[in-house]
Amino acid sequence: MSKAFDNLKNALKKIPGMGTKSAERMASFLALENRSHARDVADAIISALERVTPCPKCFGLSEDGKLCNICSDASRSEKSICVVEKSSDIDAIEKSGAWTGKYHVLGGKLSPLRKIGPDKLNLEQLSERIESGCVEEIILALSNDIEGEATCHYIQERLVGTRAVKLTRIGFGLPSGSQLGFADAGTIKNAIDSRKTF
Ligand SMILES: [Zn+2]
Repeated sequence: MSKAFDNLKNALKKIPGMGTKSAERMASFLALENRSHARDVADAIISALERVTPCPKCFGLSEDGKLCNICSDASRSEKSICVVEKSSDIDAIEKSGAWTGKYHVLGGKLSPLRKIGPDKLNLEQLSERIESGCVEEIILALSNDIEGEATCHYIQERLVGTRAVKLTRIGFGLPSGSQLGFADAGTIKNAIDSRKTF
């Protein structure tokens, strides 16, 4: 018996998508089978905790509280903002090469069932960006499900309203309920190119 081993196993079990068996296997791998790799993992976690911060503007991944690479890239248009749920969605869209504007990460989608209201998402900050006056188009790249739909409507009604901002939504070409992260680059490019007015 080892209390330290149990602590590691229980900590791993709290990671989303990690089942009891997987946590046990991973704890055993780290603590017994490959201790040098475990040190590398521990160092990487500490370094990420110290350095990774959300970009203060778009809430994508950045470091040390600074603007992210995309926000600070002057060659990318400030006039178009692609709204996504998670920062990993930015990676998926960037891989498609179809987007040359900026991004805004909401940090999820509205869900009354899971008690995620507007105050839990980065909507206020999106509103401020829209109010700044330089935004001409907002592209909604949110999941193709009821919660994604509700979030799109909220942005349309509360944030864009009567402002002269073109609001579009990407067409997925995928079944209802699908998420951006599961689509391949070609599908995402098609979805962006064929975006429709919302
Ligand atoms: Zn940014």
